[in-house]
Amino acid sequence: MPFMLKSKLYLGATLAAVMSIAAVAEDASFDRNAALETVETLAADNMGGRAAGTDGNAMARAYLLERITDAGFEPVGPSFEHQFKFTPRLPTGAPEITGTNLLFRIAGAGNTGKTIVVSAHYDHVGTRGGQIFNGADDNASGVAGALAIAEALKNNPPENDFIFALFDAEEMGLQGARAFVRNRQMIDPNIAFNINFDMLSRSDKNELYVAGVFHRPELKPVVESVASKVPVTLLMGHDDPALGNNDWTFASDHGPFHSDGVPFLYFGVEDHPHYHRPSDVYDSIPVDFFLRSLETVVMAAREVDRHLAAN
Ligand SMILES: [Zn+2]
Repeated sequence: MPFMLKSKLYLGATLAAVMSIAAVAEDASFDRNAALETVETLAADNMGGRAAGTDGNAMARAYLLERITDAGFEPVGPSFEHQFKFTPRLPTGAPEITGTNLLFRIAGAGNTGKTIVVSAHYDHVGTRGGQIFNGADDNASGVAGALAIAEALKNNPPENDFIFALFDAEEMGLQGARAFVRNRQMIDPNIAFNINFDMLSRSDKNELYVAGVFHRPELKPVVESVASKVPVTLLMGHDDPALGNNDWTFASDHGPFHSDGVPFLYFGVEDHPHYHRPSDVYDSIPVDFFLRSLETVVMAAREVDRHLAAN
């Protein structure tokens, strides 16, 4: 009997441990290798820096389309590809460029009547002076973050509906996000939140910033809850207009959402020496931090989902 008792106790403790690991894994489970492959592929030289309107950008899009269709995600409307036209701000020789956003959705289980848009831009700045700007951190890393969340939610459905928006032409003035927001009532009249990623992979201080709480103080406890359980130091900031250039409110694709009254949380690292340089390549990504950062954004998406479903 003592042996049985001991064995039962042991079994009970083991089961509890396994269950708690399973609960965490369920909340933030995604394929690490697929995430690394995403960055390595998008930031490869043959993608030529993925500038909107270039062959390399089209190659990046084809790769992402294959990932999305292989995973069995549903398009938003009749197609995953949503084209838009814009006139670039900088002289590029092209009076008008056609960009293409990739949009897919995951239906929520909670019938909340709310849709959360998870976004990341897949374009980068292309080549300059004969050098390829590979854009591994900016923003292949953010695309990997969006795909990691999609994968996690597919395995364990969210409460709210989710749209995943892989935006084009961010580097030419947030053009993909602007086009999306212009049409958002047609795309989905229930859009209630934007979670945007731009640069998730480089920090030698294990720090990831989240911006947006300044504009929506009610999100502070949501972010604090995320910060208490993630493997990076999650810092709120970069969202107060008084900060001037250090206010990131309009620095990436969440800007057009904010301008249109949609609450946002933006996740990204501070600027670093590889920012918009040819050295922003896959091989120099700190893999440990990047994977911790991805785990963080998957858990954050879960937390925002719970918050929105309850409020
Ligand atoms: Zn970017």
